[in-house]
Amino acid sequence: MLPISLEFFPPKTPEGADKLRAARKELYALQPEFCSVTYGAGGSTHAGTFTTVGEILAEGVEAASHFSCIGATRAKVRDQLAQLKAMGVRRLVALRGDLPSGYGIGGEFLYASELVEFIRAETGREFRIEVACYPETHPQAKSPQGDLQAFATKVRAGADAAITQYFYNSDAYFRFVEEARKLGVQAPVVPGIMPITNSSQLLRFSDACGAEVPRWIRLRLQGFGDDTASIRAFGLDVVADLCERLIRGGVPGLHFYTMNQSAATLAVLRQISALR
Ligand code: FAD
Repeated sequence: MLPISLEFFPPKTPEGADKLRAARKELYALQPEFCSVTYGAGGSTHAGTFTTVGEILAEGVEAASHFSCIGATRAKVRDQLAQLKAMGVRRLVALRGDLPSGYGIGGEFLYASELVEFIRAETGREFRIEVACYPETHPQAKSPQGDLQAFATKVRAGADAAITQYFYNSDAYFRFVEEARKLGVQAPVVPGIMPITNSSQLLRFSDACGAEVPRWIRLRLQGFGDDTASIRAFGLDVVADLCERLIRGGVPGLHFYTMNQSAATLAVLRQISALR
């Protein structure tokens, strides 16, 4: 069976935490290899991440804590690694992260590769480390080639595997992997999949993180206006087709950005169940 992993963000309210617990319960039917929890995204603190990671572990499912280093000191990272180890966490998604607006720099890490190197130096092989990569190029990269080199550097620093930013163009993914292989990167590159359930939110978010929503998808979504049923039906077709092409092309797994919702991810996996 093709491995899948599921990503959540730490809920901000007790109601959000209850909804996420219910969503996880439904999603566990998919037998995920692991569930990951974002860190620091949108200004959230590490406490919410660690709490959610702890709940997933207590539910008997493998959990990965995202871990971003921007603005952090070595002492703080060391302390948090010890906390995660004590909780029984064995997987990390190591990231530079994005600084919430209004924060100054001042940390001791510039790039995710430095964090990966530090984690390996401090903890050896105690954690499996995944890193992020960008088939359509990170928005702050100087060039696509520079970004690919930066990815190769992260893997050489000790990452075991990578998860991509989401995309809707499978050619971008396959070309990226091919070019990474030419640089000697052998680590698995798992495509990140963003189900489509909402039009304006997706378009806004994609602009910010540098993921391209192709013109034909954008126009169709805009054409549906507030008709959420049509957006979801169209989004399901688009994302299931994408997953099908990726699976036929031999991807090592699929990582779903669930947005803490179960329905869209379950629907996509139901549609491609014969291939999985
Ligand atoms: P890096 O790999 O450090 O790259 C950042 C930029 O620096 C890139 O443009 C790269 O080309 C460039 N670069 C790297 N090394 C060098 C070098 N030596 N010289 C010059 N340029 C260099 N954000 C969060 O805040 N929390 C999360 O939990 C989170 N989870 C994510 C999960 C996934 C799977 C993905 C794809 C992204 C996630 N993000 C998260 C977003 C991520 O933090 C941002 O995209 C961030 O801007 C870059 O992080 P990175 O780890 O890829 O950084």
